[in-house]
Amino acid sequence: MPLHDPEYERGLVWFRRDLRASDHAALYHALRSCKSVWCVFIFDTEILEPLLARDLRHDRRVEFIRASVVELSQALHDVAPNASPNGGSGLIVRHGPARDLVLQVADALKVDAVFVNHDYEPDAIARDDEVTRKLKARGRAFHTFKDQVIFEKDEILTQSATPFSVFTPYKRTWLKTVTPFYVSAYPVELYAGRLAPLYADLRQQPPSLADMGFAKTNLDELDIPAGASGAYSLFDAFTEHIADYHEARDYPGVHGTSCLSVHLRFGTISIRALARAALDLVHRGAAAGAKGAETWLSELIWRDFYFQILHHRPDLARGASFKPAFDRIRWEQGPHAERLFDAWCRGATGYPLIDAAMTQINTTGYMHNRLRMVTASFLAKDLGLDWRWGERYFAEQLNDFDLSANNGGWQWAASSGCDAQPWFRIFNPVTQSQKFDADGAFIRRYLPGLAKLSNETIHAPWLASPAELDRAGIVLGRDYPEAVVDHEAARHATLERYAVVKSAY
Ligand code: FAD
Repeated sequence: MPLHDPEYERGLVWFRRDLRASDHAALYHALRSCKSVWCVFIFDTEILEPLLARDLRHDRRVEFIRASVVELSQALHDVAPNASPNGGSGLIVRHGPARDLVLQVADALKVDAVFVNHDYEPDAIARDDEVTRKLKARGRAFHTFKDQVIFEKDEILTQSATPFSVFTPYKRTWLKTVTPFYVSAYPVELYAGRLAPLYADLRQQPPSLADMGFAKTNLDELDIPAGASGAYSLFDAFTEHIADYHEARDYPGVHGTSCLSVHLRFGTISIRALARAALDLVHRGAAAGAKGAETWLSELIWRDFYFQILHHRPDLARGASFKPAFDRIRWEQGPHAERLFDAWCRGATGYPLIDAAMTQINTTGYMHNRLRMVTASFLAKDLGLDWRWGERYFAEQLNDFDLSANNGGWQWAASSGCDAQPWFRIFNPVTQSQKFDADGAFIRRYLPGLAKLSNETIHAPWLASPAELDRAGIVLGRDYPEAVVDHEAARHATLERYAVVKSAY
């Protein structure tokens, strides 16, 4: 195939949440339109400093990103090992305010254009607007591309050209619109020879965690391998059981989901590759595991759905309820509310499924989807606390934290969101536990102190007889907390609290 004639001499690809060297929109377009292309990643102190200011030095995401950046640099070298007699290509890595450093690197390399993939978060959009203006003032272009999603912004609209706020018709339109074009890979390799060599002055070791003020976490002990290699190892393993996804995905005690969310968050795997694989299994039919693949594809479509919601409602990032009537709700406040919140964060509510789930997020940075729904509902509808408190806590803890999906999930659980749980539907934390962790396997994994309770009482230890508690070595209130609220009483209080939104229905 003849290569496309480049329009620019020199280009720079600024990697952000797209840490892979293959099937990458911005990299492909840069290589196609420039004779020589450099690549940069910047550990952005505007994002990292606020974490350090709050003493959050053990952040698995920083460690995950660093490991992925090291692998990306090697991958860029490997696709163009002989970029020049002076050596191969690679990634320029910097640490500082990204909006300034990207201009400095562009100036130093005298590039004609900078290429990036779209970021959909309001703060990132504002940063990119500023960078665009400053690059333009220096005579440099700024090109941005869709990469993180299959469909973005206004690509999927209702027949009256308005954004969807209900998922099922959105999904139907998404499925009608998708063609092989939308899920095909960008053939970066075709133009890899245009990757420029990294001269000695550009080649710097990525800063260590300590250089950036961070400390090592337990990431190595968890099953969360970083980089594109980690993403593909998880995906390969998942394809072995994707056929069962629709049945297994709701049970936190079994390994029924892909665990790819952190990789989608940081772009170590392409969403096109995943959607392509799922669509392929769906088209191949039942014997290939179509049912599981179809349900999994729906989850990938939820992801696109929430991205387009954030695009149309950037005020969500500043705390607005999707349905404004829900901003009239009066949440619990004051020292009692803070004590309840503290118990929720620490996994000390006295409800084992909630506490096991919070222990999972606190010790691994991951939480199973069913448990995100149940713990979020518990915070808003059992504890009567503002869902934004929980949203913020998840944002700090989750390896896969993504503003659009996190906000979408929290507003779903609190009922203020688009296509959310109805306000009068309130998860019962005990029956959810009996249904989705019937044999208590998940609770026992994260709360070993309860392991000796029977499969009946492990969901609600206060129902155990004194003799059973004694045999299990548990004194309630000493070895395991008493329940911080009574679910039935909390349910009534919530129905009253939410009465102010009745008119919104
Ligand atoms: P799988 O079940 O294998 O799904 C595949 C992929 O689809 C996921 O990796 C994810 O990218 C996407 N996906 C799945 N479910 C959803 C969903 N409901 N909404 C949007 N995308 C979805 N997901 C995040 O990626 N980041 C978040 O910050 C986040 N916060 C959440 C907060 C709450 C309160 C709730 C209820 C859900 C949240 N989710 C979030 C969605 C979902 O819980 C996770 O994506 C999922 O648990 C990740 O596990 P997995 O990769 O094994 O998912």
